[in-house]
Amino acid sequence: MLDNAPFLSHKHAGLTIEGYSRAAVQSYWRIPELKLGFDLGAQPWEFMGTASWFLTHMHLDHMAGLPVYVARRRMMKMAPPTIYLPEYAVDDARRLLQIMQRLDRGRQNCEMIGVKPGQEIELSREHVVAVFETTHTIPSVGYMVWERRNKLKEEYHGLTGEQIRDLRLGGTPVTREIRTPLLAYTGDTSPAGLDNYPPAYEAKVLITEMSFIRAKHRREKIHKFGHMHLDDFIERADRFKNELIICGHFSTRYGDDEVRRIVDAKLPDNLRKRVKLWI
Ligand SMILES: [Zn+2]
Ligand SMILES: [Zn+2]
Repeated sequence: MLDNAPFLSHKHAGLTIEGYSRAAVQSYWRIPELKLGFDLGAQPWEFMGTASWFLTHMHLDHMAGLPVYVARRRMMKMAPPTIYLPEYAVDDARRLLQIMQRLDRGRQNCEMIGVKPGQEIELSREHVVAVFETTHTIPSVGYMVWERRNKLKEEYHGLTGEQIRDLRLGGTPVTREIRTPLLAYTGDTSPAGLDNYPPAYEAKVLITEMSFIRAKHRREKIHKFGHMHLDDFIERADRFKNELIICGHFSTRYGDDEVRRIVDAKLPDNLRKRVKLWI
């Protein structure tokens, strides 16, 4: 392994979650099994093989790695990647890459696709990404990966395989789509970002931010700056149905030990055993 941008790794329910996230420093995540990544605050050399990235907003700690990543893919003779980002930012991001191309004299070749809340992107037959609005100091979105399976409709459960086949060949839809919320990523957000998109509380895995933890930090101010405090999680303890809640994006003013100590002491039991602090 090349010593470069750091990242942690954790496996859950057949997914490997890899990433790093500290406020104002950098955030980047990827899930190799889903062939996608979230945010490009930097780009670990090892992440280069992931070809689809979903950016939440344009703060530098979430996107400064974009030109580096795009240039590397080309240098390593990999296919141009696909970058999903909030629609309003596409033209400026293109301009940014053009300027980088002029300065660096290496082609910046990627497909940029603007997204807005409410939209869905088909990743594969099994996976769809839904875009939802989050609440931050600049326009921002979160992403939910839904798993979908086709299940035989209940009214056909008593039929033989042959009868079902005949129905299908006759043009009758015999299955219906079942969706499971697999993984949600909020990026930076105040609690309203979660509250306004209830499926985030149901996702098997939720990757989110807990930028502030100290008791004396004023919460109204934190919310105004589009972030969350430990107490926001405690208040919503009963709402989180997730199997795993990954909390990152801690402020640089906290040391790792302080984060562990304060969060462990204050989180209620039912939440503590499902929360993974990303430090
Ligand atoms: Zn951030
Ligand atoms: Zn931000």
